[in-house]
Amino acid sequence: MDRRMIIGGVGAAGVGAIAGAGFARSARAQSDAPFKLPPLGYAYEALEPHIDTATMRIHHMNHHQTYVNNLNALGAQLGDVAKAPIEQTLSHLSSVPEAIRTAVRNNLGGHWNHTYFWELMTPGGAKAPTGELKTAVDAAFGDFGKFKERLAASALGRFGSGWAWLVVDKDKKLAVVNTPYQDTPHMELQAKGAVIGVDVWEHAYYLKHQSRRADYIAAWWNVVNWDKAAENFKKAAA
Ligand code: MN
Repeated sequence: MDRRMIIGGVGAAGVGAIAGAGFARSARAQSDAPFKLPPLGYAYEALEPHIDTATMRIHHMNHHQTYVNNLNALGAQLGDVAKAPIEQTLSHLSSVPEAIRTAVRNNLGGHWNHTYFWELMTPGGAKAPTGELKTAVDAAFGDFGKFKERLAASALGRFGSGWAWLVVDKDKKLAVVNTPYQDTPHMELQAKGAVIGVDVWEHAYYLKHQSRRADYIAAWWNVVNWDKAAENFKKAAA
């Protein structure tokens, strides 16, 4: 484990020990479970000062872990969902047995969204798209500044919890969309793929920004991994 993560961990030794034991137990219980919490590719504090350490830790270890746990708790009911590629399940939710469909929608959606979100952020990345993605963004929205305004407006326009996205839509055009709760662009929208996406649930920003979602979006632009976005675009547009 990264030493900085330990130092940045729970302050009180007693609480830390209890939390540690619980974590070890859940890790053992998960060893043969179909869904697992993916590790972050960076430390919890790596996105400071834009995304704060406490938010990153709670968001990953608690919120994302809960979606994973809820999926695994479905056990044998998961059937094919346990083995199928996640994006295939999400784009064919009507094929999931009705008894578990809502749980799969919420928790497999949450698992996919958060896995995607962690990979889309990086410390010290480029501040704007380049290459083919830049050309496509400029063509679709005018320029990068106008695109950022569109995405922010979509993120602010999502009432309650959800996500805002730049997608390659079902007609293979770049589009800004948003989805409620843990819905993904694969569901009703049947998008070819998500180029970037931002979590606008309050749990993603409330500790640092309280109710100021616009401030969080403004800070979030500083941590977007545009190399990953370019990769997402290439895959979605193929
Ligand atoms: Mn979240």
